[in-house]
Amino acid sequence: MNSYSLQGQIALVTGADSGIGKGVAMVLAQAGAKVIINHVDAHEVAEQTVDEIKAAGGDAYAIHADVSNEDEVKAMYAEMFQQYGTIDILVNNAGLQRDSKFVDMTLEQWNTVIGINLTGQFLCAREAAKEFIRRGVVAGVSRAAGKIICMSSVHEVIPWGGHVNYATSKGGVMMMMKSMAQELAPHKIRVVSIGPGAIQTPINHGAWATPDALNKLLTLIPYNRIGEPEDIGKLAAWLASDEADYITGTTIFMDGGMTLYPGFADNG
Ligand code: NAD
Repeated sequence: MNSYSLQGQIALVTGADSGIGKGVAMVLAQAGAKVIINHVDAHEVAEQTVDEIKAAGGDAYAIHADVSNEDEVKAMYAEMFQQYGTIDILVNNAGLQRDSKFVDMTLEQWNTVIGINLTGQFLCAREAAKEFIRRGVVAGVSRAAGKIICMSSVHEVIPWGGHVNYATSKGGVMMMMKSMAQELAPHKIRVVSIGPGAIQTPINHGAWATPDALNKLLTLIPYNRIGEPEDIGKLAAWLASDEADYITGTTIFMDGGMTLYPGFADNG
């Protein structure tokens, strides 16, 4: 049982029909939030997540939108406001990888990753911030007028060859998050990032699908286990709650120690 509640709050989670987004949506719903499951893939998969949340006693609703498309993001917010009236929590989670050696990276691979991982977070955060400012703090719901949680990565600080577009997008998310936090704090809006390490989801299937791959991955994780979407979900729910009301403008890494330079553990 949580020592906090998100009862009466509306949460939008982007890319919530898979992996971390789904884990976050499940835990937010357990904490009492009504959760909007944004998805870009097949509607049936998102509806499965909605059904799982409802079966566990929560409330959820699926809305399709490509987060990198301004018109679709605006339409998603319009539909959410029609259904639920407002928004209290945005989890900017949707993201992908299009990996390539740097010299072979196409403009399409670059633009796709920046467009979804960075511009997508901008578009969704801007619409949320407008509504938070319009509505302000609602007494009895939350001490903040709104909370924005950006899904970053350890790769906002760890350079990643072969994934220059991805690491650049997460470095961008870090500075966007901090600048938004600075600008929006006077409106009682909190903006934070979560920096996951290796979490077992479809995005990194190749890194844990075989025992060899998993053992190699574990050499990068001092705590010696791969993370689960629910680990991130619990942190997101806590960050969204008033328990974390004095936290804004920072990244919380949840990575089993991946950012501790494990290569130096034995004198380097
Ligand atoms: P995932 O592939 O399971 O989920 C990604 C989700 O984003 C999917 O639901 C996908 O449909 C959605 N998505 C992709 N493009 C979209 C678009 N244009 N519009 C809306 N939704 C879109 O992967 P995941 O591991 O759960 O990744 C979630 C987030 O966590 C990403 O931002 C990723 O960069 C970040 N992350 C993951 C890890 C990890 O180890 N899994 C580590 C660090 C950061």
